[in-house]
Formats: sequence, C-alpha cells, structure tokens
Amino acid sequence: MAAYDYDIGIFGGGAAGLTVASGAAQFGAKTLLVEKEKSLGGDCLHFGCVPSKTLIKTAKVYHLMKTAQKYGLPRVDPNPVDYREVARRIQSVIGIIEKYDSEERFCKLGARIRFGNARFVDEHAVRLEGETYSAKNWVIATGSSPAIPPVPGLDQTPHITNKEVFSLESLPKSMIAIGGGPVSTELAQAFSRLGTKVTVIELGDQILGVEDKDMADHLMGILVAEGVTFHLNSVILGVKDLGSEKEVVVKNGGGKMLNLRAETILVAVGRQANLADLGLEGITVDFDKKGLKTDNRLRTNHKHIFAAGDTTGSYQFTHAAGYEGGVVLCNAIIHLPRRVDYTSLPWCTYTDPELASIGMNEKRAAAAGIEYSVWTEEFRMNDRSLTEGDEAGKIKLLLNEEERPVGIQILGPRAGDLVSEWVAVMNGKVRLSTIAAAVHPYPTLAEINKKVTRNFFAGEIFSEKVRKALKFFFNLKGKACGV
Ligand SMILES: Cc1cc2nc3c(=O)[nH]c(=O)nc-3n(C[C@H](O)[C@H](O)[C@H](O)COP(=O)(O)OP(=O)(O)OC[C@H]3O[C@@H](n4cnc5c(N)ncnc54)[C@H](O)[C@@H]3O)c2cc1C
Repeated sequence: MAAYDYDIGIFGGGAAGLTVASGAAQFGAKTLLVEKEKSLGGDCLHFGCVPSKTLIKTAKVYHLMKTAQKYGLPRVDPNPVDYREVARRIQSVIGIIEKYDSEERFCKLGARIRFGNARFVDEHAVRLEGETYSAKNWVIATGSSPAIPPVPGLDQTPHITNKEVFSLESLPKSMIAIGGGPVSTELAQAFSRLGTKVTVIELGDQILGVEDKDMADHLMGILVAEGVTFHLNSVILGVKDLGSEKEVVVKNGGGKMLNLRAETILVAVGRQANLADLGLEGITVDFDKKGLKTDNRLRTNHKHIFAAGDTTGSYQFTHAAGYEGGVVLCNAIIHLPRRVDYTSLPWCTYTDPELASIGMNEKRAAAAGIEYSVWTEEFRMNDRSLTEGDEAGKIKLLLNEEERPVGIQILGPRAGDLVSEWVAVMNGKVRLSTIAAAVHPYPTLAEINKKVTRNFFAGEIFSEKVRKALKFFFNLKGKACGV
C-alpha cells in the first residue's frame, strides 16, 4: 500500500474545510489543511454571513431610531451614518468569532495548517512553496467568489462586491445593485436604511428567484415602501464610469431605456466556485461552470478526492457547507458510506422581515409534480408580532396528499429562527397533530407554527359531522348568540 504523508488533505479553511479538519483530527486522522489567505474562516466570517448580519443589525437599529414614533416614542432625527464606525463594529464582531477559527485552535485539535497556494502535482500530492505533501484523501473546499457578469463596460468601471462592501471608507450616497438575489436584497435594505439611495436591477420577474413569487413580491413591496427602487425584467446593456458617478444603461420590462446613475455599483449576481489554480485539469478532476461534479457521497470522479461547500455549486450556505463537511468525514475517515440529502435543508434571507424556507415551496412542488395543499397564517394575527410592531408576513405550509408537510415558507420576524421547529418536524417525521397539540409559550412568534397546523385541523375538528355527533350524544343546545 502506498505511504502518504497525511490521511487527509483539505484545500480551504472556511466552513466546509474547517468542519472536515476538526472532525478528522479529532478522529485521529493525520490532517493537513491548506488555506490560500492569511487567516482561516473563509467567506462566511470575513465577507459573508458575519459582516452582513452585523450590518443588517446596525441598519435595523438606525431604522428603529428613525421610526421611533411608531413605538410611542419622541421623534428622533439621528445624525447621518459614519460608515467607518459601522465597518469598525463589523470588524470587531469578526475579530471575536475569528478566535474560534485560529490556527492555534486547530493545531491543538491535531490538524496541521499551511498557508499559501498549493497545486495538485498528481492525484495524491500537492506542491506548496517548494514542498510536496501527499495525502490518501483530499477535500476541495475552496468556496466561491462573486460572479462578474459580462456586461459591456463593467470591467472598466469601478464596482464593488461582497468583498469590499463591508469596509467602505464612507456611506455611498447612491448605489445600484446588480442582481436581485439574497446577497443583493439583504444589502439593498441595509444600505437604504442607513441612508443610501438604492436601486436594484433584476433580470427575472421577481427578486429571490428560488422563492415563491407571492412571498418574494410581498417582501419587495416592503422594501419599496422603505425607499428601495426595483427594476425587474430588466437587462443591463452597458455600464460607464462618469467619474464621481457611474451610469448603468438598462432596458426595462416595458422595453424602455433607462440611464440610471449612482455613486457605487454593487455586483451581486451569484457565485462562482474557486477552482482555478488548483491544478485540477492536470489530474482530470471533472468540473463545470457550476462547480465540481460529484456523486451523492460527494466524491469527484477520483473517489479519494471529495468536494464540500460552495465548490459543489449546489446549496451555497454555511450550514450546507458544514453538513457536507460531515458527509465527507463519514465517507473518507470513518468509512461509513453516507449520501447527501437536501430534502430538509433550511435557509433564510435575513431581510426585515426575514424569508425562510425548508423543503418544497409551491414552485418546487409543482416542478416535481407533487399534489399539495397550502395552509397559511398571517403574522398580523400573532399577538407577539403586534406587540413588537412586526406584523408583516405570513407562514405557508405545504401538505402532500397524505397530509404530511413537504415544505414551509415563513416571511416574517425571526423567520430564520422560527423555521427551526420545522427542521425538527421534517427531520423527525413528526406528525402535524403533535405540533397542533403541543403547548407553545404565549406570547411568542413561534405560536404561528402551531396556529398554521390548527388552521388545517380546524375544518375537521369543528365540522358539521362532529357537531352533530356532540349534539346527539350530549344534547348540546347550539348557538347562544346571532341565531
Ligand atoms: C454577503 C454574503 C452573505 C452570506 N450570508 C449567509 C448567511 O447568512 N447564511 C449562510 O448560511 N450563508 C451565507 N452566505 C454563504 C456562505 O458564506 C457560504 O456558503 C460559505 O462561506 C461556504 O463555505 P465554504 O467552506 O464552501 O467556503 P468559504 O467559507 O468561502 O471557504 C473557502 C476557503 O477556501 C480558501 N481558498 C480559496 N481558494 C483556495 C486555494 N486555491 N487554496 C487554498 N485555499 C483556498 C478561501 O480563502 C476560503 O478561506 C453568504 C455569502 C455572502 C457572499
């Protein structure tokens, strides 16, 4: 048997790579992790989830200050935002979390970390700064970068992406966000709340294209009411640098040409897997524009080379990266064959209100040819929502023909947290009647989860048949009012 330096080698020290590294090291595997940048943590920590959620909170506080009267408080006219202070807070939160992703911590767990650019020299070995490292198994967890669309003039016009947006020197007066996906939508609302005039340009007929249109349109309406402008069904024909302003020429849904101008252009049209410079072509690892091609055990065409996280091009979330890291560990280190199953993978767009999803929405159910019924409950009927002043949105429960939940979408306050109850329901195959009967604390937003199941059962419980039976057996006398 060939002797390798390591049991497992990992490219990339983000959510996926670190999950594999910590697990493998703790299982006693000789583990090497190679990270291209100077620190660990990946996009989520430095340019993604952590800075964006910190920014969103800051923007929410500023928004609450400006809308204080809604809560019976005196009118407040806060000073304009100093974005350097906002960026400082973002960096301080990153700094705290970063400690958990330190080289020392992983070294203590038993994993060796090397920083630099490594390339495969053969199917089991990589070369890094003049040294060769071989491993029995490899994991490619190099994440993704913002995709840059081939818009004429964009390459000669200064623009920003999620890499720069959290460390700007000042708050842009105006911003055109290209793309209407989750990254763009979250940032559009946050910057608008901080005082930037934001315009979003989206090619499709709705924002958040994977979500049901009714939920996405509802959310868009809320953002419009806050002052964000959207151009849907709009094609960008060109971009020009005019100095202090940039011009974006757009053909909108009605065929009208618009010359939009803003101080800053934010490009957020999706992600592209980081697969260049790894030497993958040399060892013929299969990948395409979407990412690495894998089987359902996350093995590439070379069975000892695995993919995890954004490089798979499937569900580009931190929790998906962590989950996939766990699947790779099972397959590569403890040799318990494990397949990925995304049926109950939740996600959330952290706008205000949040839009969370698990399982099938109407779009996906229809595409899969699944017969379903839809049950809803509005947040304006939830007492806690009313006390919080957060009454926009609803929950949508999809049941299949066997009346089992196949998906839940929640547009509302803390939707990302509320969906967790459904994570347990769907993964544990819990019966709807269990949630309907379970006591939820009052007044909580989570009561909406119970209420929507009750809406389903209400028709059966209070049916004419039940009423007739109760009348017959117990001689009930019927309505006492409004007869
Ligand atoms: C603005 C924004 C907000 C987001 N918000 C959320 C959110 O709220 N919730 C959520 O679940 N997801 C969110 N995401 C997505 C999330 O950040 C990614 O899905 C997650 O980081 C993927 O983890 P990963 O391990 O695959 O990649 P990463 O975390 O990016 O890690 C990849 C690592 O590989 C390194 N690397 C790259 N090339 C090489 C190389 N050649 N050699 C060695 N190392 C290399 C990189 O430097 C990086 O450290 C957000 C993304 C963005 C852009």
